[in-house]
Amino acid sequence: MTIPLVDLHRQYLLLKSEIDGAIAQVIEKTAFIGFPANPFRKSFEEAFAKYIGARFCVGCANGTDSLEILMKAMEIGPGDEVLVPANTWISTSEAVSAVGARPVFVDVDPELFTINLDLIPKRLTSRTKAIIPVHLFGLPVDMVRLMEIARSAGIKVIEDCAQAHGATLNGRHVGTFGDAASFSFFPGKNLGAYGDAGGMTTDDPALAERIAMIANHGRLGKHDHQMEGRNSRLDGIQAAILKVKLPHLAKWVERRKAIAEQYSELLSHPKIGLPKEIPGASHAFHLFVIRTDSRNEVIARLNAIGVETGIHYPTALPFVSAYKDFGHCPADFPVAYHLMTRILSIPLFPEMENQEVHQIAAEVLAAHKSASPSQESRP
Ligand SMILES: *Cc1c(COP(=O)(O)O)cnc(C)c1O
Repeated sequence: MTIPLVDLHRQYLLLKSEIDGAIAQVIEKTAFIGFPANPFRKSFEEAFAKYIGARFCVGCANGTDSLEILMKAMEIGPGDEVLVPANTWISTSEAVSAVGARPVFVDVDPELFTINLDLIPKRLTSRTKAIIPVHLFGLPVDMVRLMEIARSAGIKVIEDCAQAHGATLNGRHVGTFGDAASFSFFPGKNLGAYGDAGGMTTDDPALAERIAMIANHGRLGKHDHQMEGRNSRLDGIQAAILKVKLPHLAKWVERRKAIAEQYSELLSHPKIGLPKEIPGASHAFHLFVIRTDSRNEVIARLNAIGVETGIHYPTALPFVSAYKDFGHCPADFPVAYHLMTRILSIPLFPEMENQEVHQIAAEVLAAHKSASPSQESRP
């Protein structure tokens, strides 16, 4: 492939001396784990909390763990239900099941692809304990409205910000609206480590202390286990790499937005559905996802010139084998079902060149010009 969906090597070359230096420093100081006081972890946690605008950030091993640890800390477990969108990465629902609760899927908005807020009241029961809105592809969910719904229902909100580092709503970063937020620093995310890594943000000091304990065997001091926890730590090397990258994040997100704007201009065509935003939102464009009835033609044309594409996600969660016992059918989630066969992710990463954006857009457009001139179909 000449243009992959995301090219992490281009970014590494731009930061090579800083990253190599940071890794060498961790090794020199043998600050690999060093819980509870790894200086590299502490330093990144403080910087990330400041960037997001949250009081606390607690690092952990990966984004999936961060969701699970937060629910554990909120005492969500067997007998409880947690609302999650029907179209998201499986971590969101997997973490719910991992604490013993039941994920309850909610269909998504046909234009935004994020959880459909109008459908939430219908899915609430006396067992509902929380909702996990996912800022999918980097687009903020309407957190103002969602918080109103959650507060009147008396349930907790954990924002899944794994795809939305740098996204804002009304000038505030996502991850500052709910009771807490979960972040993934998987290498390909907007802010990525060089391995697995994750983090949690909150303004609640009691919750911050509890999640830090759970992530580290339930301990306050070396052998002071207040409860049973687990081993889910942000290690020194990943923290040091993230600290090097963080100051570049705002600029990278700006570049993502500029590329998305170019794509949107170039791909303006009645048969291509383009990303939408809600008022006040600033999309972080982790992914650029179009909607088209000619997906196979587009994929074939792009692959032929060495451009990689992706589908996020080819099977909506209610329909994956893992949840076949839930017995869901397409009519339960008509929008998520419709999108499965039409959404397509095309390359978008900050180090892409304008000429590459133009080349990709021309190919996508050509795949539609050859087809009949009807409107794209809607669910
Ligand atoms: C990446 C991702 C996660 C967490 O992923 P990890 O690989 O465990 O860090 C959670 N939710 C969503 C929506 C994601 O995209």
